[in-house]
Amino acid sequence: MSVRTRFDLTQADIPRAWYNLLPDFPEPLPPPLHPATRQPVGLADMTGLFPESLVRQEMSPDRWIEIPEPVREIYSLWRPTPLLRAVRLERALQTPAHIYYKYEGVSPAGSHKVNTSVPQAFFNKEAGTRRLATETGAGQWGSSLAFATRLFGLECQVYMVKVSFEQKPYRKMMMQTWGAGVDPSPSTRTEYGRSVLNGDPNSPGSLGIAISEAIEDTVKHPGTKYSLGSVLNHVCLHQTVIGQESIRQMEIAGESPDIVVGCVGGGSNFAGIAFPFIHRRLTSGGACRIIAVEPSSCASLTRGELRYDFGDTAGMTPLMMMHTLGHDFMPPRIHAGGLRYHGMSPMVSHLLKLRLIEAVAHPQGSVFEAAVLFARTEGIVPAPEPSHAIREVINQAIRCREEGRGKVILFNLCGHGMLDLAAYETFLSGKLQDA
Ligand SMILES: *Cc1c(COP(=O)(O)O)cnc(C)c1O
Repeated sequence: MSVRTRFDLTQADIPRAWYNLLPDFPEPLPPPLHPATRQPVGLADMTGLFPESLVRQEMSPDRWIEIPEPVREIYSLWRPTPLLRAVRLERALQTPAHIYYKYEGVSPAGSHKVNTSVPQAFFNKEAGTRRLATETGAGQWGSSLAFATRLFGLECQVYMVKVSFEQKPYRKMMMQTWGAGVDPSPSTRTEYGRSVLNGDPNSPGSLGIAISEAIEDTVKHPGTKYSLGSVLNHVCLHQTVIGQESIRQMEIAGESPDIVVGCVGGGSNFAGIAFPFIHRRLTSGGACRIIAVEPSSCASLTRGELRYDFGDTAGMTPLMMMHTLGHDFMPPRIHAGGLRYHGMSPMVSHLLKLRLIEAVAHPQGSVFEAAVLFARTEGIVPAPEPSHAIREVINQAIRCREEGRGKVILFNLCGHGMLDLAAYETFLSGKLQDA
């Protein structure tokens, strides 16, 4: 008999509620602060940017938040996502470890981000929003929101970090295909964008700058709300479908992970796979190591400071208690565009502070080596971002071999790399440099 490698659920198994970690923290999460008063922000401070339903989720004391049926129905286009065992990778590594991965690349936009763009578009539509403005780094979030807004008949304006706009034209074309407007950021559409361009006409842009532009756009256009693809509590919340499904699928596999691994940019895909396992640990025991992996060149968890900082460059957002490299940090032009963010989800930051998770950083050269080994054994060409997780998984599996100890490792393969092939070419031709 061949080894079982695939653990499928059916449409009826799509979770009915998102899991909210907020009430389960052993120590309360420090609240976001108003930039002017330095007092905790209230509902009214945030409803200019977000519909009230999403602000309530951001601060909710409820452990389970029901997923509306129209959202579950759209989820069924790609959920439940597959959980697979990477037996050929295990054999290539000659490791006694069992390696499992949850594959979110099967979604229409090719990553986990649609898990939150769809509910965000849904709750905005319900609240009467006509148009959403947002930023995107590598384009995964912009394309996810373009897709979701289209399904609910909302307009969508995306500010795309200029370096990615130029390096990744296919993401831009996807957004346009779904009907969104896309501009390179810094752009001339906003006052803030124009001021950055005045200072540096060749600015490659950053997520922080693009966020400032999207917020300015929102404030200046009636009927427009703002939408964020990571970092915030309600975004992490929506991603918990990943971990909930994974727990059931690991039960079908008859194993329980000793180590759970995810890459971190703003923290949402990591939150998605990790939070339900943390819930299990905090309620029914069942401890496992949970490792967040970031790029060495933009290492907020391992090299940043834990303090209040702005989410954007211009300082328009509330101050959040998070691991940060400073809101004016300009990340180097690495290929994992989705991991080029100066800050971190406050919830993920808090978990690290409470030592409920660990964090490591890897340089992009070693990350692409791992990505190519994964592609050559498992077939799927992974996005550069989750390839950081793959690097760590391979390191752990090699350690298992050296120690002669089998462990069960699970990671989140949060997106495919079919629109990142130019980065693979750079690597394969020997031109990739560590920043
Ligand atoms: C956006 C993105 C990331 C980084 O964002 P998180 O919020 O940390 O998940 C990582 N991987 C992929 C494929 C992405 O699209």
